[in-house]
Amino acid sequence: MATKTGDGYTWDRASGVLPGLETEAVISPRRSVSGNTIYDVIVIGAGYAGLAAARDLAHLQHKTLLIEARDRIGGRTYTAKQDGFLYEMGGTWVTHHMGYLFREMVRYGMDRDLIETGSPGMHNGFYTINVPEATPRRTTHEEAGAMMAKAWDVFVNVDGQFGRTICPLPHAQLDNAIVSRSEVERWDQLSCQDRFKQIKHKLTAEEQGILVSLLLHISGGHMETSSLWDMIRSHALLMHNSDNFADVWLRYKLRDGQTALAKRLFDDAVDAGLQYAFSTPIKSIIRTSSGDGLTRVTAVDGEEFIARKIICTIPLNVLKDIHFDPPLSQGRQEAINIGHVNQMTKIHANISNTELERWNGMRFPGHLMYGYADGVLPSGEVHVVAFGADERDEFVPERQPEKAVAALNEIHPMDVNKLIFHNWASDQYSKGGPAWWRPQYMSKYQDELQSRHENTFFASGDWAHGWRASIDGAVEQGILNAQVAHTELRKAKRLPIRGNL
Ligand SMILES: Cc1cc2nc3c(=O)[nH]c(=O)nc-3n(C[C@H](O)[C@H](O)[C@H](O)COP(=O)(O)OP(=O)(O)OC[C@H]3O[C@@H](n4cnc5c(N)ncnc54)[C@H](O)[C@@H]3O)c2cc1C
Repeated sequence: MATKTGDGYTWDRASGVLPGLETEAVISPRRSVSGNTIYDVIVIGAGYAGLAAARDLAHLQHKTLLIEARDRIGGRTYTAKQDGFLYEMGGTWVTHHMGYLFREMVRYGMDRDLIETGSPGMHNGFYTINVPEATPRRTTHEEAGAMMAKAWDVFVNVDGQFGRTICPLPHAQLDNAIVSRSEVERWDQLSCQDRFKQIKHKLTAEEQGILVSLLLHISGGHMETSSLWDMIRSHALLMHNSDNFADVWLRYKLRDGQTALAKRLFDDAVDAGLQYAFSTPIKSIIRTSSGDGLTRVTAVDGEEFIARKIICTIPLNVLKDIHFDPPLSQGRQEAINIGHVNQMTKIHANISNTELERWNGMRFPGHLMYGYADGVLPSGEVHVVAFGADERDEFVPERQPEKAVAALNEIHPMDVNKLIFHNWASDQYSKGGPAWWRPQYMSKYQDELQSRHENTFFASGDWAHGWRASIDGAVEQGILNAQVAHTELRKAKRLPIRGNL
């Protein structure tokens, strides 16, 4: 049964902005903690990284506690249910090219339960483009797709082989057997703006506008602060071929919503003995003075929990709010203070305009730059999703819903009846969208972010090896860190060796 989370907002003209969304992601009762216990592992954060880690550790018979600040599972990925319709508030698209995620879909019998983005016959619809120095116009999906592919290809083709020579192994970008670290670091210095200056003469004004708008809504930052490398890595994950752009990145969704999958991981972990505490934000991670390697996790309200190992999945932009003692390394502190640049906006709208059922649109510049129709509600209204980049200084949708309505209308005129959104930038437990790094950030900080701090392991989609900034990367990090914690705990407990999960 869907219950209301404190997260997210709805807006309509009659009620104005209201906090809270119906979702199956809320966990009730909110805790199942049994008295004073020393846990084998405390997992902090119930997003996909935390759920995967907690599930594996509980199955491996470690006494595991999951602590989460929110009232729900899923973190930056959850599904709201409103008006008989499912809305993905964060992470959405899935593909068999994302191995860690797909394994979860298979494990829980959801690998065939996919639906396509948009409405059947989408290609019969139309695309609107409104970018600087080009006449605003309406075109076909096919032509818009071809222009986007051309511009993207020119942009990412830094080595004449679409990144194959510099990012041949996107799950091992640094220190792999094929390309030297110094060569990767040379490319990692460049921003999207640096690369754009190199190639813009190869594109028409319209293609330039399309490209910048695309890059900005992918990175959620600014052209100068968004790393080129993250685009090269993304292209490598598309098998170095833009033909795969839509199929791998934007096409398939889970029919029952992301929360249905996250719930399976959570329920599975609880069945295996996981304890949990929701609505319990933590403020510190401190080594105890007992000298036996125990770590104390303290909640904002002062409640304390103790464990042998900690798996911390708190997002990169939030980590600076947590006090560590002993202090984190200089390098990790620097990385945390810099953070990532993605401050994207994602807004759902229910609109009356049935003629827009198969529409996509791009408008640059704008508070929202890219919109597309994604299905029809039981009421007959069309569901539209729109994205914007970092507009925090001027655009806070929960305070200025009229700006969101205006921004949607700037992409294409439409009658907006309702908005449904989660502001990931103003959310204190995310402080941003999926992690997009700055130039040089990977070279300087990836190894540090992935390393451990005493008995605390750091697992997050924000610094995954491959599908960074994705659900797959979160699952990867949860599984890999749980495996290391398990190996050490097993040795300490002198347990017989069990098969790997
Ligand atoms: C708008 C948007 C669209 C996206 N689209 C896609 C997509 O289509 N496909 C895709 O694969 N990925 C997508 N992503 C990315 C994907 O959602 C994330 O990479 C992934 O969910 C991150 O998982 P995580 O477990 O690493 O972090 P999170 O999901 O952020 O989990 C971390 C958890 O830690 C909790 N926490 C924070 N602070 C504290 C504290 N002090 N105490 C206790 N708990 C705390 C948080 O509440 C959160 O639940 C999207 C993300 C966004 C925001």
